[in-house]
Amino acid sequence: MYPNCPKCNSSYTYEDDDLFVCPECAHEWLQNASEEEEEVAVVRDANGNVLQDGDAITIIKDLKVKGSSAPLKQGTKVKSIRLVDGDHNIDCKIDGFGAMQLKSEFVKKL
Ligand SMILES: [Zn+2]
Repeated sequence: MYPNCPKCNSSYTYEDDDLFVCPECAHEWLQNASEEEEEVAVVRDANGNVLQDGDAITIIKDLKVKGSSAPLKQGTKVKSIRLVDGDHNIDCKIDGFGAMQLKSEFVKKL
């Protein structure tokens, strides 16, 4: 079902890419943008606190690091995280390790 034309109220409208088109008066208009908005997933730390970009966190357990013989130690502090989509939902930089991705369940907001 397409919405009626907002100009002439025709119901013979159709969809053309991201526009609706009215064949009767040639009016074109944008689809309701809200339908395409992505849902922003809420990321929570191990205690259930909501994390946001720029937060500082601490790691709550030793984590193995791919390509490194040393683990990330429990208690390591990380400044200004960035939330990303995916299994590892925190992007950050850690001194001595460089760019890392962490799981929010293994961190605690400071
Ligand atoms: Zn129309």
